[in-house]
Amino acid sequence: MKILIDNGHGVETPGKRSPDGRFREYAYNRLIARAIVEHLQCRGYDASLVVPEDEDISLEERCRRINRIAIRHGHEPNDTFVVSIHVNAAGSGAMWHNATGWCAYTFPGHTESDKLATCLYKAAQKHLPGHRLRTDYSDGDPDLEKPFYILKHTYCAAVLTENGFMDCEVSLKFLESEEGKKAIVALHVEGIIDYVNSFHQ
Ligand SMILES: [Zn+2]
Repeated sequence: MKILIDNGHGVETPGKRSPDGRFREYAYNRLIARAIVEHLQCRGYDASLVVPEDEDISLEERCRRINRIAIRHGHEPNDTFVVSIHVNAAGSGAMWHNATGWCAYTFPGHTESDKLATCLYKAAQKHLPGHRLRTDYSDGDPDLEKPFYILKHTYCAAVLTENGFMDCEVSLKFLESEEGKKAIVALHVEGIIDYVNSFHQ
């Protein structure tokens, strides 16, 4: 089973930072994505980064990379899947807001990706105690649904996580803390392993 971890944006992407400029989403996404891949590899899983570079690799190219691997490894749910790591923003980045919370997105409709997202939500509940989880149970599962490019144009199961808000001071403080980084990495590692194990039961 091939596990792909994608990190959004790049060093030159405009915006995508905290209002005071100290937090850059591309850097944080990479830090978290690299740690997730390392942890999974250490535990014997076949995980790799979609974007090892620091620059912004276009969504088209990221999907091409993912689909090339999905074709090679197979794109059945137990062959290949991808998790794309992001940090949310409530506004354009010019002002601070009060939005908080963790969430995961899948492509609209019932898909295999919903199962992967549910595993991530379960792990988030455990690793982010006291934090808000943004959910939508109207279709029977917790994930939010949106046709993001990376969810729409990949052949394999795909989930995009938004790990707190970069334009909320409370959320940012947690994101930048050692405790916060550890929790976000751990929830992805555990959710992913839970999903992989679901095929061996
Ligand atoms: Zn993003």
